[in-house]
Amino acid sequence: VPSAPAAEASPLARPPVKPAVFVPVNRSPEMQQERLKLPILSEEQVIMEAVAEHPIIIVCGETGSGKTTQVPQFLYEAGYSSDGSIIGVTEPRRVAAIAMSQRVAKEMNLSQRVVSYQIRYEGNVTEETRIKFMTDGVLLKEIQKDFLLLKYKVVIIDEAHERSVYTDILIGLLSRIVSLREKRLKPLKLLIMSATLRVEDFTQNQRLFSEPPPVVKVESRQFPVTVHFNKRTPQEDYSGECFRKVCKIHRMLPAGGILVFLTGQAEVHALCRRLRRAFPRSRHRPPEKDDQQDSVEETRKFKKSRARARKAQAAALPQISLDSYSVLPAGEGDEDREAEMDDEEAALGSDLDLDLGDDAADGGEQPDASLPLHVLPLYSLLAPEKQAQVFQPPPEGTRLCVVATNVAETSLTIPGIRYVVDCGKVKKRHYDRVTGVSSFRVSWISQASADQRAGRAGRTEPGHCYRLYSSAVFGDFEPFPPPEITRRPVEDLVLQMKALDIEKVVNFPFPTPPSVEALLAAEELLIALGALQAPPKTDRVKQLQRSRLSCPITALGRTMATFPVAPRYAKMLALSRQHGCLPYAITLVAAMTVRELFEELDRPAASDEELARLKSKRARVAQMKRVWAGQGASLKLGDLMVLLGAVGACEYAGCSPRFCEANGLRYKAMAEIRRLRGQLTTAVNTVCPEAGLFVDPKMQPPSESQVTYLRQIVMAGLGDHLARRVQSEDLLDDKWRNAYKTPLLEDPVFIHPSSVLFRELPDFVVYQEIVETTRMYMKGVSTVEVQWVPALLPSYCQFDRPLEEPPPAYCPERGRVLCHRASQFYRVGWPLPAVQV
Ligand code: ADP
Ligand code: MG
Repeated sequence: VPSAPAAEASPLARPPVKPAVFVPVNRSPEMQQERLKLPILSEEQVIMEAVAEHPIIIVCGETGSGKTTQVPQFLYEAGYSSDGSIIGVTEPRRVAAIAMSQRVAKEMNLSQRVVSYQIRYEGNVTEETRIKFMTDGVLLKEIQKDFLLLKYKVVIIDEAHERSVYTDILIGLLSRIVSLREKRLKPLKLLIMSATLRVEDFTQNQRLFSEPPPVVKVESRQFPVTVHFNKRTPQEDYSGECFRKVCKIHRMLPAGGILVFLTGQAEVHALCRRLRRAFPRSRHRPPEKDDQQDSVEETRKFKKSRARARKAQAAALPQISLDSYSVLPAGEGDEDREAEMDDEEAALGSDLDLDLGDDAADGGEQPDASLPLHVLPLYSLLAPEKQAQVFQPPPEGTRLCVVATNVAETSLTIPGIRYVVDCGKVKKRHYDRVTGVSSFRVSWISQASADQRAGRAGRTEPGHCYRLYSSAVFGDFEPFPPPEITRRPVEDLVLQMKALDIEKVVNFPFPTPPSVEALLAAEELLIALGALQAPPKTDRVKQLQRSRLSCPITALGRTMATFPVAPRYAKMLALSRQHGCLPYAITLVAAMTVRELFEELDRPAASDEELARLKSKRARVAQMKRVWAGQGASLKLGDLMVLLGAVGACEYAGCSPRFCEANGLRYKAMAEIRRLRGQLTTAVNTVCPEAGLFVDPKMQPPSESQVTYLRQIVMAGLGDHLARRVQSEDLLDDKWRNAYKTPLLEDPVFIHPSSVLFRELPDFVVYQEIVETTRMYMKGVSTVEVQWVPALLPSYCQFDRPLEEPPPAYCPERGRVLCHRASQFYRVGWPLPAVQV
């Protein structure tokens, strides 16, 4: 870390820089007491001096030292927003933006009209807003509207160590904006806040900052954490290992919260159940909650409700209607059962584990019910109210145990943790750059992450960190996690940057630049989508590459860039202003961008009862999918019709949590879709006021011809995700049975079993994504007609005679066309009814 001029300067050497204005804040005495405990409070003077003297500064400090909650308050008190300017704070995670705005408002005794947040779907920003927490994507959009960000006097980029793609871009852009604002004599201050100490990417980057900005390091009162490595080689069953470790800690070690790091939601829930079972909070419960009785009672209830559910389903089936969104009334039995399931306490399986025996052998006592364990899950898709529970002190006489995914590593600090159990793994989306296939992979964390996790144990007193891997394995970890920008496709970024008229994206001052191949792939996709102008044809590869890396944006591209969705989806929106397709396209895009509309039902069951519950729910979901997909024309839209149907049906049912629960839909996802539909409608109205759309949550089902147009719109957006069914005459060997071939992948791909087209096996499909598990599976599948290719995706075709410019959307002549991307497998004739491009 380069020495920090401002940090070095002792406050005694120079008279302190007096704030121009001092804005008093009326905090409660208790709150003030709590603040004074935070290490960053003793650095207020140093930080504020550095801010006064330098346009850009970096603040480094351990997680929990108070950066996010306190620095905006320092700036507010020093008058940085007293003239009506805004102090902006960006967070890479939505959870953090919301939670932190609430926390800061509470600490300052101000309303959320003054300390507000804005995330993609929602916000509570008003005219009075002075401190604004937002996701980094939101600020990027604002830069597009007002490049100089004139309404801000300070921008804080928080959690810069996470190296999220948008954070990286923002730092690059803001380094320019700061110097432009200096020239205008309306200086903008930039604060970069980071948890770990690897700031060289920022400070030693000549392209980014001509002179390295000062680094203020916040010494935190971190208590020593004793790290215990496992002696044995790492286990496959790390969940089981976590369970045993928590049991031991809880039985044998003094009071203090336990924080367990696992990799995913399903694991988190499974471990929570196991722990609750082993350490029931029986003292606080009526006697019928006794384990034995509990499971007998549960089984009885379950059997009864299953019988009722069956009856209700049988009665409901004949109501299937092909003409409208079908809302099957949820059987009464289902509702009972789902309500029970929702109550997590009631959902305990009979999973008293065999491992307990093991543990008793090497650890000693039986589960000690005298000190109950207060077990809480924490992961990013958890409902916000449940997330907030981890900040509450545990009930009197219990020990807190939070089972979390990576979210607890840096963005949220849980009070009172003294023991950390670290499985050493993290689940990350992995993208294959060539094929675009993404898969979730569990891999080892980095040394920096491991230390970060360990640090969570030493916030209030000396703590312990139990690593479920050996020190040798730790030695092989990467020192730092690689920045996200080097790991994922960048087409959305490239489009946003082109819309800011940054034509040569390769020359942009990225803290860590993405690879040239990634940039090329992005430009190529954007050219194919019509968002960028195709460069003139040339034979020389070098020249082609150079011109490809500096294609200007097209009018369509500008329209696409205004929609807050990925370029493929933005293209769909841009095309759908015809035949009344817009409301459907908006709904489809909203549903496709929201992660996981359906509940995860393939999770391992902890007990027979749970297994039966999961099975019956799976059957229910499969049945509903068939209903929503309909038949004939509508079924051709496949899984995307299911999305439309599910959203429509849910809205007709008042979007109730009960309806979602009964049909295996995630309520949170549905609520998000509703918000995004509203937001996209506003975006469309801005781009094209004559569309005059209004948000009507309930829509009529699309007509048959609209379904066909929607399939074309989807194809225009997902054109590079085309797949052809391997015909029986092409079958070389068995691994190609029921398989599809895509232009880019060597290996067979399959329709995912959860798709409504799984058994239909249409000849040509487009897919939303390929996910690799045991095989490569296409998800979000819709059928298309190959004859549409030349009209909708001209850049994927080689024509046997030159095309007029621009490519005609609809040409009455007939000609032979060869689709060059897909030339291995088809020749097509054209044209057919097409969407106007
Ligand atoms: P940093 O940004 O340096 O990681 P924060 O400013 O997020 O630190 O946190 C400072 C302190 O405020 C921590 O001790 C944390 O536990 C506490 N804190 C943050 N949010 C809440 C909340 N919602 N309720 C209670 N305490 C909170
Ligand atoms: Mg923070």
